[in-house]
Formats: sequence, C-alpha cells, structure tokens
Amino acid sequence: MHLSEPRPKTIYINIDLLFDFYSVLFSAYRTYFAKSAISISEFKHLIEGRNLRNGLNCLLQEVTQGFTYEQVKEELKPFIDISLKTIKPNVGAYTLVQNLVNNGSTVKIFTNFEDEVIKYVEDAHKDWFNFEVLKIESLTDIKEDFDDERRDSIIYVDSAIESCINIKKEEDVDVIFIPHSKKLLESFNKDEATKKNLENLKVIAKESIQEVDWDRLGVLNNIKWPDTSYYLKLDAKPTNEEYQVWKNISKLDQPIELTSKIVHGFGRGGKKLGIPTANLDMTHEIEEKLVDLVNGVYYGWAEFMLASPTKNKNGELTYNTRLPMVMSIGFNPYFNNKYKTAEAHIMQSFEHDFYNTTLKVEVLGFIRNEADFIKFSNLIEAIHNDVQVAKDILGAEQQ
Ligand code: ADP
Ligand code: MG
Repeated sequence: MHLSEPRPKTIYINIDLLFDFYSVLFSAYRTYFAKSAISISEFKHLIEGRNLRNGLNCLLQEVTQGFTYEQVKEELKPFIDISLKTIKPNVGAYTLVQNLVNNGSTVKIFTNFEDEVIKYVEDAHKDWFNFEVLKIESLTDIKEDFDDERRDSIIYVDSAIESCINIKKEEDVDVIFIPHSKKLLESFNKDEATKKNLENLKVIAKESIQEVDWDRLGVLNNIKWPDTSYYLKLDAKPTNEEYQVWKNISKLDQPIELTSKIVHGFGRGGKKLGIPTANLDMTHEIEEKLVDLVNGVYYGWAEFMLASPTKNKNGELTYNTRLPMVMSIGFNPYFNNKYKTAEAHIMQSFEHDFYNTTLKVEVLGFIRNEADFIKFSNLIEAIHNDVQVAKDILGAEQQ
C-alpha cells in the first residue's frame, strides 16, 4: 500500500469493466438459443469474460453438436448487432473514469477483444469515450507499456483473475481484481485457496469499481457514490450525469403493438423497488411478436383500452391517452427460460392497481440488454437510468 501523498497515477483498466459486454453476450445468446429450446443459463460461466468468438465457441462445444461458429454467427448477428449498438457503460464506470481524468490521472484502457467489437463501443459512445484503446495480444504487451511509467505510479485493474495474479507476480504495481458476474464472485468467495493466494500476493479484490478505495491507493479522488435509497426515489432528479451516456438507444424498424389483459406476476418485488410492472398475459400471439426481440429493456407508450374487461370504478385511469413506459422483456425463471414475460412500468403514479384491465403497449426501441447485477444498488441505478432515458426520448418525441 502506498501511503504517500495523493498524486496522479496511471491506471490500466480492462475495457470489459467499463462496458457491459457480458450482458450483451448473455442476452443475445440467450434469446437466440431459446428458439431451439436450449437454456443457456447454466452455461453462463462459459461466456463470462470472453469475446464474441471465444464465448460462442465455448458455448457451442458445450451446448450442442451440429452448430458451427460461422452458421450460428450469421443467425445471431442481428441480436449481437442491436446489443452492441446500444452497449452501456457499467454502472459507475462513466463517473469513475471522468473523475480520474479530471483529477489528473492517466487512464489507459486495454482490451484483447476483436476490433469489430470495440468499434461498436467507440461508435456508440463517441461523444465522451475519447480514449485510445490499447489493443493487446497478451500480458506481455501490457508489461511493455508499463516501461514508460514509474512502477509505483501504476494501478492495474482487471476482471480476469489469472491476469491479475500474473501481473502482480512479475511487476511491483498495485493490482485490483473485480469479477464482473455474480457467478464468478460467488465461486471466488467460496474458494479459500484462491482468496489466500490473492491476499498473500496483495492483489486487492473488490465487488465493483464503486467499492475501490482509491484514496488508499494514493489516487486523487473525490467521488461520492449516491446511496441506494436515493435511487429508490425514482422521481428524484439524478445527481450525476451517468444516464446521459446511456442515451444511445436503438429504434426498432417497426414499432411492436401488444394488447393484453394485465395479469398477476410472480411478486418479484417490482412495487417494493418503486417500479411496479404491469405484466402482460403471454398469449401465443404476443409471444410470437416478441420472439425476435433480444431480452432487455425497451421504451414506448402504454394506453388503457376502453374494452377493458373490468369496469374501473376509481375513475383515475385515463383512456386513449398515450403514457410513457419502460418495458422489460425477458425469460421468466419460473418457467425455466422457455417463455418470455413482458412487463411494463408506466411512468406515472396510480392510486390503485389495475389488474385485469386491458393495456395496449407500443414498443418503439431498445434501451439495454438484460443484466445480472452483482450489487442491488447497481440494479436500482440501472432502472433509474432506463426510466430517465425513456422520459427524455419520449418527451422529445411528443413535441
Ligand atoms: P406483479 O408481480 O403482480 O406484476 P408488481 O409489484 O410488478 O406485481 O406490481 C404490478 C401492478 O401494480 C400492476 O399490475 C398494476 O396493477 C399496478 N401498478 C400501479 N402503478 C403502476 C405503474 N405505474 N406501472 C405499472 N403497474 C402499476
Ligand atoms: Mg410485475
């Protein structure tokens, strides 16, 4: 640990800690393979931390014979494309990077991903992501790059545990290991030997980038991460600009219209999180319409229909008025990933529930992939960003 005065440092960060590649792959693969009734949930570990080609190769070897990379890639491409076009920074990443740079540190972002994958990120985020990405073939390239710096000025941050160990064994630099999936974090937490190894080597292991104690590492830093309770108040104006960089969205070629009765969900706590979601009745017809949509969060309009089967006595529902909404489309774990669910959060408060009424939903565009957040506060912040993004876009569209 460096207890010297805080001063600018050079911080090497793997790009997969800054952008949510894992959700992109998971969501696209899961949507694609569901058509063949294959659930990839149990194969998640195979794509973790991998790029497009490696992730898919590992998946294909394990999941089934008879698919080839080229063949699947062709069919997967639309799913991957829309996902990569809308790739989001991981929660906190934008704030962190801006802060480090503003405080005089040098941020060096490295990757061994294919150029075509990185290009999507650069295109989608060109208004703020103006870093030259250091393309590496192996860790040797990183170590060579270290030679331009004083070793005690270097901090290396990676999601790959082997790389962290390798670097720390050979270089006298600070190393931070941040796993980027729940499963990896869990297996890491269970493995005493690995933990001991990291401890002995003095590799710092953290749950997320928001958890890193930059002050202790001698980095000039003054980020205050908001408390989870702040995000639970979804009506509050955001205190950070994180959501601004979430705004790249992908408009669907054709809006998708779904008319359905509102049914009970599985009480997975939408209301408790301050985001009740009206669950559509997944008729065969609706399922058909959603089959080609990547799992994730969408935005659009919702409208209560007069043909509502139950009379509404409260007089609070407005009919024939388009209300802004965000919608989550994904697989219901209850049905072991065979059936999709579609749940709409209308961005307005209602005094009463409206189960059994008929809602017409118009899905206009894609905000982000479904994600498996390690931290609850990250989930809440992501939903907050989704809502804010949808409000901005739909607000603009109405004028
Ligand atoms: P469930 O698991 O039954 O879907 P939720 O906690 O997701 O339970 O709550 C959803 C219900 O809350 C909806 O079916 C609807 O009747 C009601 N509700 C109240 N306000 C809203 C809102 N703004 N958007 C969506 N649903 C709402
Ligand atoms: Mg719900």
